[in-house]
Amino acid sequence: MPDSDRLYYSDPFLKTFTATIHDARKVPGPEPTSVWQLALDRSAFYPTSGGQPFDIGLLKTTSTAGANIEIPVEQVEEDESGTVWHFVQQPLSKGTQVEGQIDWSRRFDHMQQHTGQHLLSAVFVRELQAPTVSFHLGEQASTIDLATSMIAHHSLERVERIANEIIAEDRSVTISYASRAEAEAMLAAGELRKLPDREGTIRVIDIADLDRNACGGTHLRATGQIGGLLIRRLEKVSRGVRIEFVCGLRAVRSARTDAAILTDTAGLLSTGAPELPGLIKQMLADSKTAAKERQKLREELATYQASELVKEAPPENGLRLIVRGWKDRDRDFVKLLASRAAAAAPSTVAFFSATDSDPACIFLARSTDLKFNCGQILKEALATLGLRGGGSPDLAQGEVPAKDEPTLRAAVTDAVHRAMAGIE
Ligand SMILES: [Zn+2]
Repeated sequence: MPDSDRLYYSDPFLKTFTATIHDARKVPGPEPTSVWQLALDRSAFYPTSGGQPFDIGLLKTTSTAGANIEIPVEQVEEDESGTVWHFVQQPLSKGTQVEGQIDWSRRFDHMQQHTGQHLLSAVFVRELQAPTVSFHLGEQASTIDLATSMIAHHSLERVERIANEIIAEDRSVTISYASRAEAEAMLAAGELRKLPDREGTIRVIDIADLDRNACGGTHLRATGQIGGLLIRRLEKVSRGVRIEFVCGLRAVRSARTDAAILTDTAGLLSTGAPELPGLIKQMLADSKTAAKERQKLREELATYQASELVKEAPPENGLRLIVRGWKDRDRDFVKLLASRAAAAAPSTVAFFSATDSDPACIFLARSTDLKFNCGQILKEALATLGLRGGGSPDLAQGEVPAKDEPTLRAAVTDAVHRAMAGIE
């Protein structure tokens, strides 16, 4: 399609237009959702390019029987030869006269984000000498990647404030055309921010007294139509810094969402939004102190409980073998208990299980005066059940399905007795 028939080039505010179906092709795909692609002799539908997504809308026509037909345009893409294809679910034959209608709220939103991007990129160059290397207009937010090292928070706020001042000044945004040679001369003179590798006539977008940039996208008539610009996030990426931003109603929506989150969070904590950072900082510090205190108490409890267990289990033939299971203790505590029990008295072996979940977690610990290898014993006992586990000579652990726990318990205690008796 020649540039002159891309109606959005000369009039980005054109919402409806008439055209003729120039070509139609069926795209092979899974039935029954076959897609048809239609080429028109002229179109105001914008195909995905330059970071700006495609338009959607309707193609309207009348059937031979006189019925009104409305076909949704779901996607618009340009192929390598420059043909713009309109994706629809229903074919129209060549020569059909249609009226095209752009989904204006979507397009206007894209124009706000896209013109906002020109403005933001220009301010980043002017204020921070940070050139834009890429732009992406997303469903929720847009991003630009800047070729620069990290940007300080106060610089970001300054750029945002200046961009919004230029929006309030309602500076005109105009379209002009230049030959490739003229555009290259402007670029060399520093009068053009960016020039794509494109032959033929170059479309130049000017923001009065601020920016001149070669671009084939759709833009507003003046900066005031951007409405407002909000920088949302800054993130380090491989080739520089990524800035996420929103313009117009998107900026209002995201500010509204943020305000609701802040209000809800402040409500949960019975405070005001400005007090949140200080209060959360205090809560984190308190929770860290509480976690330390809790760990100290767990260790004290384990030591106490271990000494009680040892007292309740007198040694038999020089060995104190304590076998116990807990349903209401977490595995970390049971592990701690096993090692504390083994340390509480000589010649002590603890075979403890945490049965709060299935599979159960089991631990085998021994006093340092005993010489057999807990890791080895547990590993071999688990292996007879087709399970894996092990550990060090004085503390080992594994997992066993609850139904096999008694079998494992018998095998381990037997192995411990055999090891004590010196039977290999
Ligand atoms: Zn543009």
